[in-house]
Amino acid sequence: MLNSYSGFRLFFRLALLLTLFMCVGALLGHIAIVTLLGTIGLLAWHYRQITRLNFWLWKDKKLTPPQGQGSWEGVFNGIYRLQGKNRRRVGQLATLLARFRQGAEALPDAAVVLDAELNILWCNKLAQLILGFVWPQDSGQRIDNLIRHPDFSDYLKKADFKEPLEMPSPVSDKRLLEIRLMIYGDRQLLLIARDITRIHQLEGMRKDFVANVSHELKTPLTVLQGYLEIMQSMEEDDSPNQKPLSLMQQQTLRMQSMVEQLLALSRIEDAVDIDLSKTVNMKLMMDILKEEAKALAGDEYTLAFNCEAGLNAHGSEIQLRSACSNLISNALRYTAPGGVITVTWRSVATGGLFSVKDTGVGIAPQHINRLTERFYRVDDARSSKTGGTGLGLAIAKHALSHHHSELNVTSEYGKGSTFSFIIPLHLLDRQ
Ligand code: ADP
Repeated sequence: MLNSYSGFRLFFRLALLLTLFMCVGALLGHIAIVTLLGTIGLLAWHYRQITRLNFWLWKDKKLTPPQGQGSWEGVFNGIYRLQGKNRRRVGQLATLLARFRQGAEALPDAAVVLDAELNILWCNKLAQLILGFVWPQDSGQRIDNLIRHPDFSDYLKKADFKEPLEMPSPVSDKRLLEIRLMIYGDRQLLLIARDITRIHQLEGMRKDFVANVSHELKTPLTVLQGYLEIMQSMEEDDSPNQKPLSLMQQQTLRMQSMVEQLLALSRIEDAVDIDLSKTVNMKLMMDILKEEAKALAGDEYTLAFNCEAGLNAHGSEIQLRSACSNLISNALRYTAPGGVITVTWRSVATGGLFSVKDTGVGIAPQHINRLTERFYRVDDARSSKTGGTGLGLAIAKHALSHHHSELNVTSEYGKGSTFSFIIPLHLLDRQ
């Protein structure tokens, strides 16, 4: 209770001094005057201590405080201790910041920290290299004043950062960047930019390679197919060569259909900028699809086509037809004869719904997410038997993505599946 900084100790000290002044005053016979002079002296001493403290706090460069006396000793030492603590904290924060910056510099991507008003707070060296920032001159500048590409301004305006943005680098048109923005903390933004020129080039090379090889394979396969037909017709019906020849013909036909599908896929992949102002007459398209389906189904399936009148879509007729006809031919191929296939085109709250429902083999849940991958087949044996190439749904997925839509699959193993997609409202045309 009576430690050196306690209030009681201060009070006892004051009381002691006053008693001392009064005793001396009593001895000299002037209690009031001696007590008053003693109190004035005490105040003057305290005033001097305050002046020393002020001088040390504001003028003196020394780190250690002046030697405090009496009740001021605790105050001086306390301030010194607080200062020490703060210095240690600042040191720790500086180390942390340095470590964070070293980490951000080691990132393989350009990183830029922005505040809520899109002003640049910090960027790493790679950002200066691929985004052309000059540091520290560009600190505090709005990022859209420095990156002046219209796509980037639209991206910022929309403020929907779920998908990355691809745009040419502000430093060189030949370099392609992938930009991602992430909101964190108190509405701060982290921009990450990655150079994807090489990936883009490789992707282009892959597409060209597939398209060229498929194209080059077309002619030899047609020649092969033609000669096989002639050879087969020249053989007697009971000739032992008939079986191998017909097997060879089957396989060439399969290869031909795979080449056709590969070409169709690369054509659709390339046609990103389709004319979305064109109207596709869906009634007409459904009639053609119905005729095709009838030809494939023969009398073995029950087909039901329901089409809402006057409901049309905008986009590419070839691509939409390719997507729909792949879904219908799949429904027929993966449904045993006697099954029911229902094809529907009608309006729903979010747009125009196209769906193909079958009563076929169904798909186990673990396969559903992978169906649109190239060459993915649930059951290789069944797929080859039915003439499948594993490309039909990949084609449908690409065609639909060009129409701002995606494929939905619901299925119950052994009972049947429904493949559907919704053409969004802005691509619908009602008459
Ligand atoms: P494929 O040419 O092999 O049919 P797709 O890309 O069209 O290739 O389909 C991929 C796989 O999805 C198929 O191999 C098949 O296993 C499965 N599939 C597609 N449609 C259906 C369906 N209607 N019912 C059951 N399985 C299906």
